[in-house]
Amino acid sequence: KRTTREWQQADSAHFLHPFTDHHGLSSKGSRIITKAENIYLWDSEGHKLLDAMSGLWCVNVGYGQQALIDAATRQLKELPFYNAFFQTATPPSIEAAELISSVTPPGFEHVFFTGSGSEGNDTVVRMVRRYWDILGQPERQVIIGRVNGYHGSTMAGASLGGMSGMHAQGGLPIPNIVHIDQPYQFEHGRGMDRDAFGLKAASWLEDKILAVGPEKVAAFIGEPVQGAGGVIIPPKSYWPEIQRICDKYGILLVSDEVICGFGRTGNWFGCETMGSKPDLMTFAKGVTSGYIPLGGVAVGGRVAKALIEQGGEFQHGFTYSGHPVACAVAVANIKLIQQLKLVEHVRDDVGPYLAQQFASLRDHPLVGETETCGLMGAMLLVKDKSTGTTFPGEVDIGMVCRGHCFANGLIMRAVGDRMIIAPPLVMTRAQIDEMMALIRRCLDLTLADATK
Ligand code: PLP
Repeated sequence: KRTTREWQQADSAHFLHPFTDHHGLSSKGSRIITKAENIYLWDSEGHKLLDAMSGLWCVNVGYGQQALIDAATRQLKELPFYNAFFQTATPPSIEAAELISSVTPPGFEHVFFTGSGSEGNDTVVRMVRRYWDILGQPERQVIIGRVNGYHGSTMAGASLGGMSGMHAQGGLPIPNIVHIDQPYQFEHGRGMDRDAFGLKAASWLEDKILAVGPEKVAAFIGEPVQGAGGVIIPPKSYWPEIQRICDKYGILLVSDEVICGFGRTGNWFGCETMGSKPDLMTFAKGVTSGYIPLGGVAVGGRVAKALIEQGGEFQHGFTYSGHPVACAVAVANIKLIQQLKLVEHVRDDVGPYLAQQFASLRDHPLVGETETCGLMGAMLLVKDKSTGTTFPGEVDIGMVCRGHCFANGLIMRAVGDRMIIAPPLVMTRAQIDEMMALIRRCLDLTLADATK
């Protein structure tokens, strides 16, 4: 068995990590995570961590669920792989498509499988353009995304997303993808009435459609709640107004449900919580609770009809589209979410409880604002609460706080000055109390550093 240091040396010598500055790895070394159970992780030194990020927003049913392990094992023995190209299918891929269609909102009867959320969003770009082609409007090419949206790391995914750091590397976005600002009131509408701000933020979509030319716009894509952008929860007025604008110009609405899908917001899908009726929904992560990679696109009425009745062959697909083992795990995962009534648990019990507990953090001198939606939450760390002044960039207060969390048994993520959480949906009230005590402790340690 290797020691932690030996793992770290092999890691820095060979493993090029995603989203990591490798310069620091060789001296400090990665934290090596070795096992997990329920909402807890353990590292190679035996330290226990409360995982308030569900891995990477994905372990919705928590770690160690035997039903998922059994489903994968059974399927690996029975049929570890077969593809879904050229009119073949496997029982798990059919069953997964059927079950996903039963939990998606009315009008969604078809599913296209991919291996990840990024591939799902790449599929969206091709599917949306194909749709307008079939309808005889091939000039509709432009897809509108949002600043700080995250839709994955492939060329199309990173282009749909609005992360400036990602765009700066590799000449993105690809042509015909443009962006509007995010509905982040702290940045764009401080002091405004909340719903008035929501309408204003949605009006940026109409401005962009008119600037591009409505006849050229194919679709708008957004996460119901921006996740990687900092858990930006839009005002209630925002999504219905976005929907109205999309309807007015006939453009397709795509909801990226990779984080918000499968119970995170207290409904099966985030669009149900936010009040929109998308044409397409991308999913991944929570569909298998991250136990095995799977993603896809739920295809709603008008797009499915055009593709199926008029489209001929859609020349698109992945080796792992409908992978039988991944689909078997998805089926077990969705059935477990149903059996444990996790959507109701988030909506009626732990979601409201988290909202209340998070709001109580506002008495802390560092916490400027807090917000939650289901089991997602964010708190903004500020230097001066009375004026809402943030810390200077060089302090990197979020990373200071994250460091204290990591050292004290809690995984929270920092997005700039926002500390964010998205814990497993199986979390109990007692575990929320445990998490809140850890959060307060880490905030105190961060404050002590900030006032040194
Ligand atoms: N869309 C959203 C909203 C995401 O948060 C992510 C990943 O974090 C993706 C897409 C990309 O998914 P994947 O990493 O599975 O490609």
